[in-house]
This record gives sequence, C-alpha cells and structure tokens, in this order.
Amino acid sequence: MSPQQFFPFGTPEGEPYELPHPCPSCGGGQGVYREEGRHLVGWCTCGHRQRGYVSRADAGLTPRTVSTIRRGVSEGLRRRIYERDGRRCQLCVLQDPDAPVLAFKDFEVGHLIPVSQAIALGLADEQINDDLNLAGMCVPHNEDLGRTGVSESLWLRLLILRRDSA
Ligand SMILES: [Zn+2]
Ligand SMILES: [Zn+2]
Repeated sequence: MSPQQFFPFGTPEGEPYELPHPCPSCGGGQGVYREEGRHLVGWCTCGHRQRGYVSRADAGLTPRTVSTIRRGVSEGLRRRIYERDGRRCQLCVLQDPDAPVLAFKDFEVGHLIPVSQAIALGLADEQINDDLNLAGMCVPHNEDLGRTGVSESLWLRLLILRRDSA
C-alpha cells in the first residue's frame, strides 16, 4: 500500500520536524513524525513515508538514557514501593526474613531488568518503571543489580515473596 493510499488526503497528523535527508519522492525537507508502536515514523509533507525510524534526537526529544528513565522513579513511587515492600531490601529479605527495616533515605528502588538492558530490549519507559520490574533495595544490592540484573529464578522468588506478603 502506498502512503498516498494510506493517507489519501495528504500528510498524517503528527509533530512537525525537519527531515534529516531530502524526501526521496519530492526532494522536500519538511515533515511530521508520529508514534507507531514504540517507534517514531517520519512522513514528508507530500505524504511520503520516510524509510527507517526517526531518532528521538532528530525529533528534538530527549534520548532515552539510563538516567532519564531512572528519573521516572519519582519520590511518590519510591514511597509507594517502600510501603509495598515492608520498608526492606527485597534481596536481603530473601537471605534473611528478619532483615532490618531501612530508613527511607537509605531505601532505593532497583530495576529487576536493569534499565540499560531494558532499553536494548526495546521496552517502553512505562514498562521499565512498572511496579512488577521494581523492587526495594539497600544501596549495595542496588549497585550489584545495576551491573548484573537478577536471574530468572531469583526474580520468580521475589514475585512469590511479594504475592505471599500482600
Ligand atoms: Zn516528499
Ligand atoms: Zn540488600
């Protein structure tokens, strides 16, 4: 199906941006981009769909990085996970059910699939910061986790623990 058939009345709605290369159909340089699934797709104003995906940088959006996604863990979210996880590091609790309660300032929220891996897997920000992927951590455990992530068996034990203590 050609773009003209797909959008018989011209350019689809989207955010305006400058095409990084002249449009192969009309040679123009102005277009729009819009979200299709997890990607941004560019269209020339002539209605020609541009090849490949539009990078978030070309679209003038902040590129997704470990730190921008980590910033998505707001104070409110951290507070909620703190209460959900009984104010304890979930990895400490697996080793010792009587692991000490952490002060809120010492309580971190770790990503079970590390953010860098999750970006590489193409997960959306909301998926990366989904409650299911978050667990309360002490500082040393969260540092370890950032490097390695947790194994599938450890993750399953965490989810069972969470279910049983709910
Ligand atoms: Zn064009
Ligand atoms: Zn710990």
